[in-house]
Amino acid sequence: MTETSPLKAEKGPSSKRDPHHPSGLAVTEMPSAQRFSGRGSQVAAGGQRPVVKGQSSGVDSRVKAAKAEVGDGHPHLAPLDTDAGAAPDPLTIGRRLRHIRRAAGLTLDQVAAAASISASALSLIENGKREAKLSLLSTLAAALDSNLSDLLTVAAPSRRAALEIELEKAQRSVAFQALDIPAVRPGPRLQTEALESLVGLHRAMARIQAERAATPEQARRANADLRDRMRRQGNYFGEIESVAADLLTATKYDGGPITRTVVDRLAAHLGFRLAHTTDLPESTRTVTDLAHRIVYLPQPDAGQHDSRSLALQALGHVVLGHRVPEDYSEFLEQRVEINYFAASLLIPERGALALLKRAKAAKDIAIEDLRDAYAVSYETAAHRFTNLATRHLDLPVHFMRISSSGVIYKAYENDGVHFPMDATGAIEGQRVCRYWTARVVFDRPDLSSAYQQYTDTKSGTYWCTAVVDRTPAGVFSVSVGVPYADVKWMRGRETSERSKSRCPDPACCSLPPADLAGRWEGSAWPSARVHSHLLAAMPPGVFPGVDQTDVLTFLERHSG
Ligand SMILES: [Zn+2]
Repeated sequence: MTETSPLKAEKGPSSKRDPHHPSGLAVTEMPSAQRFSGRGSQVAAGGQRPVVKGQSSGVDSRVKAAKAEVGDGHPHLAPLDTDAGAAPDPLTIGRRLRHIRRAAGLTLDQVAAAASISASALSLIENGKREAKLSLLSTLAAALDSNLSDLLTVAAPSRRAALEIELEKAQRSVAFQALDIPAVRPGPRLQTEALESLVGLHRAMARIQAERAATPEQARRANADLRDRMRRQGNYFGEIESVAADLLTATKYDGGPITRTVVDRLAAHLGFRLAHTTDLPESTRTVTDLAHRIVYLPQPDAGQHDSRSLALQALGHVVLGHRVPEDYSEFLEQRVEINYFAASLLIPERGALALLKRAKAAKDIAIEDLRDAYAVSYETAAHRFTNLATRHLDLPVHFMRISSSGVIYKAYENDGVHFPMDATGAIEGQRVCRYWTARVVFDRPDLSSAYQQYTDTKSGTYWCTAVVDRTPAGVFSVSVGVPYADVKWMRGRETSERSKSRCPDPACCSLPPADLAGRWEGSAWPSARVHSHLLAAMPPGVFPGVDQTDVLTFLERHSG
């Protein structure tokens, strides 16, 4: 994953998906066509970008007429990506060159002679098979009575040329070549209708491949990438904080817990209404009707979820300008962002910081205080603490939510603690050391209060605090920890509980004791309880795991 801003501000104008059509039947595009800008970008490599749109001095009227074709609409396929920020590739430059040459009524020989190159060399350039140096492009532009900026304009010269370029690129992709299907030459004899159809098929194929690509391994890699990014920014999203702060100001929030009334006001401020219903589709937590601006929430008694949080998360998609996710990574990113958004409203930065700074000054930081001051769950408070701790309190931290069998469901660290990890760098589904606070807490007689412990690990000594959380989905522990050097700020540091973890050394806790293993060798055959949410391939679809028919039927029923 690239380092995009959480708000996708710099993703540019290419929001091709219409959020009002969550079916995803809106436009998709070939990833190869979108990303193809690599080797051809001499311009970018030189550190300058002479791509100046609309700068056309002294252009022949025929050339002008030819350029007027750019961007003409078409009923079947959407226009190509004409993002002005992207560098043009040799194929686009070549097609543009040929287009301008033909529009000027000049032959290959004439233009090649004027530029002192062979006609075959020019032909190779026009076909995108050879890269021309910037100086040669200047000469060619002059020979055509055009200028360099016209040649380097990213947009294809015409609808037809755009389709030809897209087909050519699609056929050059590794994915297509792996199919061993003969390529079609997108030359003048290929009818535009056939060209449209082929390009449409290539786009559909790319979309299907992207959907299929969300295998468990892909999902795990996406998770690992996202965690990397969060670690780099100390789990803090400044843009979301400021959006949340503005919303709170707009709704006249003046401190303390965010009540349901404040959430209703907030929704109203955004032009939305919150409605509770008993018939939400199984596969969803909330459904938002963007046409009538209604957020449907489950009945408050239906689960342990805080409906404030659910409502805020649903509104988060709207406030943060989310598009229909293009792939699993983007889906995950959006999940992280709406969670953050909800938390930044439930525990507003300003008030929480005042509380935490006072606590730090008194060397008495406790997650419970944050939980109680804002009437949220321990998990929400713990997670929110990690958002603010590094940025504002200069504390590196780690956070974990694990099941009673020790399997990681959520985790974050920037304090050097070594989570168990698989070969892809994923930690979800891994089992944490038996001797870590997060697991030891399950063995404590009193599950009602926080448990603290020092743990010596291979990467240093950590102090952690954990609580047990009972949910309809099972029993979990939520824990937060800091390195030994920072324990002086934390309440509960006087504990005498201590433990030693030698993981990932298998002799620590993952292998059974030798005598026990010896006694049962060959005589034990357990049947695994499959963690389907972790192991199953992500179901295809725009919103992974969501039954789209259920959602649409639901909306029909409620809008009727
Ligand atoms: Zn261990």
